[in-house]
Amino acid sequence: MKGTLYIISSPSGAGKSSLLKALFEKFNQNDSMYLSVSHTTRNPRPGEVNHVHYHFVTVDEFKALIERNAFYEWANVFDKYYGTSRELVQQALNNGKDVFLDIDWQGARQLRDMEPDTQSIFILPPSLEELRKRLINRGQDSEETINKRMSKAQREISHYDEYDYCLINDDFDTTLNSLWSIISANRCKVNVVKENFSQCLNNLLENYQKE
Ligand code: 5GP
Repeated sequence: MKGTLYIISSPSGAGKSSLLKALFEKFNQNDSMYLSVSHTTRNPRPGEVNHVHYHFVTVDEFKALIERNAFYEWANVFDKYYGTSRELVQQALNNGKDVFLDIDWQGARQLRDMEPDTQSIFILPPSLEELRKRLINRGQDSEETINKRMSKAQREISHYDEYDYCLINDDFDTTLNSLWSIISANRCKVNVVKENFSQCLNNLLENYQKE
């Protein structure tokens, strides 16, 4: 069994975290999906829990992990380090789970080069006005931080066309269903079925010589 690696990227405030949360609540009853928890050197925001939302580490700790080749990918985003643990992701994939990485376009590029079967999905807000409104309503950031996030959003958005799929998150439930459709369709791809259901296929084609 081998799971698929999914990359989900978006500018902050487009709804990526809420979508992933709902995806896991609604569609992960059989524990077939794994959400990777990244390491970061940024400070926790109010309500964020160490080892749940991120593994919060110091810059020295992060650099030591780079030295040990512990990251599948890592990047510097908004002057802070972020990285994905290689071991945990590979373990989950080898256990047949679909693994979800909430990472930026720089990490997405690194992984696409390393793992050609990676499926990457970009979540867009319906407009810049709506993005600002959502950041304000989230109530997590100061006005100054919101302005900074808005100015960085377009840089992130400009990379949308490097991805396999692009979802415009206008209506939450529609976007969630589209996200689940991508995952469901991928599970039916011939190469995925061939890899994960070899016993079943062997049985179906037992003693048969293909023409
Ligand atoms: P935030 O600080 O708002 O949680 O995340 C800022 C950005 O860093 C987001 O675009 C998020 O997807 C990205 N990010 C989070 N974890 C990782 C990671 O492990 N690797 C990379 N490359 N980006 C990450």
